[in-house]
Amino acid sequence: MSTSTQRYQAIDAAHHIHAFVDQKALNQEGPRVMVKGEGVYLWDSEGKQYLDGMSGLWCTNIGYGRRDLISAASQQMAQLSYYNMFFHTTHPAVNELSEKLFDLLPGHYSHVVYTNSGSEANEVLIRTVRRYWDVMGQPEKKIFIGRHNGYHGSTVGSASLGGMAFMHEMGGLPIPGVEHIGEPYWYAHGGELSPAAFGLKCAQELEARILALGADKVAAFVAEPFQGAGGMIFPPESYWPEIQRICRKYDVLLCADEVIGGFGRTGEWFAHQHFGFEPDTLSIAKGLTSGYVPMGGLVLSKRMADALVERGGVFAHGLTYSGHPVAAAVALANLNALDQEGIVTRTRNDTGPYLQKSLREVFDRHPLVGEIQGTGMVAALQFCEDKASRTRFANEADITWRCRTHGFEEGVIIRSTAGRMIMAPALVISHAQIDELIDKTRRAVDRTA
Ligand code: PLP
Repeated sequence: MSTSTQRYQAIDAAHHIHAFVDQKALNQEGPRVMVKGEGVYLWDSEGKQYLDGMSGLWCTNIGYGRRDLISAASQQMAQLSYYNMFFHTTHPAVNELSEKLFDLLPGHYSHVVYTNSGSEANEVLIRTVRRYWDVMGQPEKKIFIGRHNGYHGSTVGSASLGGMAFMHEMGGLPIPGVEHIGEPYWYAHGGELSPAAFGLKCAQELEARILALGADKVAAFVAEPFQGAGGMIFPPESYWPEIQRICRKYDVLLCADEVIGGFGRTGEWFAHQHFGFEPDTLSIAKGLTSGYVPMGGLVLSKRMADALVERGGVFAHGLTYSGHPVAAAVALANLNALDQEGIVTRTRNDTGPYLQKSLREVFDRHPLVGEIQGTGMVAALQFCEDKASRTRFANEADITWRCRTHGFEEGVIIRSTAGRMIMAPALVISHAQIDELIDKTRRAVDRTA
C-alpha cells in the first residue's frame, strides 16, 4: 500500500466519523481513498480504476471532470464569489439558473427555495407546507405522511419524513406530526396479490390513514417516485394514479422527493413525469449540479407559491448559502449541457433502453436474481433464495454486501441495500461502458452465488 494511502487512512481514522458505517470496523479495514474522476471512471490512491455504477451517490449525472462546469465555477468565483438572497438582494447567477430550471420543469411550477442539499430541501418542505396551510386558513393541517423504508435525508426533519427504522431508533425520531404507511415493494410484501392489486392496496393505506387522522389534520404525503436508498424500488403502475386521486380528494398536498429521480435519471427530466403524476412540490438536489458543488431546492407549484406570496407576508426562513452564486453558475452549466447535448433524451431513447435490455438478457435467468427493476439509468437486481416462491435469503444484507465487495475487486462500483444490488451510472455512459458495467456486475454476482 502506498504511503499516501496510509497517510490518508491514518488521518481519516483519527478525525472522521463516516456516514452509515461501523467506524471502528472501518478504521481497522481503512477506507478506499478516491483521488480522480473522469467521465464514468474513478481512480483510487493505489491507481486502481473503477467504473462508477453509482454516479457517486446518484449525483454525478453528467459524469466527472467536465471542463465547462469547472470553468463556470471559476468564472463565477472571480466575478462574485458570494452574495445572498436575504432581505432585498438577488444576483444574476441565481436568476439565470431559475430561468433555465423553470424552462425544464412542467408549467405549473413557478417558485423555488434553494438549499445546499436534499436533506435541507426536505426541512424547507416541512416549514413551507405548514406555512401554506396557515395562510390558507387551515393551521390545523400539520401532519405529514411518509413511507416505511423511504429516505428523505439525515437531518431531524428529513429523517423523520423518511421511514428508515434504524435511523429512527437513534435519536428518538420521528418528530411529532409525522406518520408512515407501508412501501409499495411488491417483491417483498406483495404475497399472493398481483402487482396491480398490491399497488392499489398500498395506495389505499394512505386513504385509510388520512381518514383515521382526519383530512383536516393532514398536510401532505411525501414520497420518492421510486425509492432510492430503500433499494431502487419501483412501485406497481397502479400506485401513483391512486395516490394522486386520494391526495386530491382529501386536499392533501402531494410532495415528490426528486433528489435522486430528478435531472434525467429515469430518462425524463423528473421521475414523476415517468410515473405520470403531478406533485405540488418537488425536492431537488444531486443532479441539479451533478454533484460538482452542493445545491438543492424546494420547487413549489404556482398555486402554492401564489398563496404564500399574496397572503403570506414575511416567511421567517433563510439559509446563508441559498442560491449561492457559484453553485448556481455550476447548476446552470450542468443543465445547459444535459439539455443541449441531448443527454437526457439519449438516456430516454437510447442508452437507458440499452442498459435495461442488456441487464435483463444477462440476469433474467440468473439463479440469484428474482426480479430486475429499473428504467433509464437506474436499476435494481433483487436477490432471492428461490425464484419460483420469491423466497428471500434470511441473511440477504450480508449477501448483497459481499456482492458489493466483489464489485470493487472487479473494478465496478455498485451498491447493496438490504436485499438488492442497485446501480445508477452517469447519464453520459456509452454502450461499450454499459457492456463493461454489466459484465463486471455479472462477475461480482457470480462470485456471490
Ligand atoms: N432525498 C432522497 C430521495 C435522497 O436519496 C437523499 C440522499 O441520498 C436525500 C433526500 C438527502 O439528500 P442530501 O444527502 O443531499 O442531504
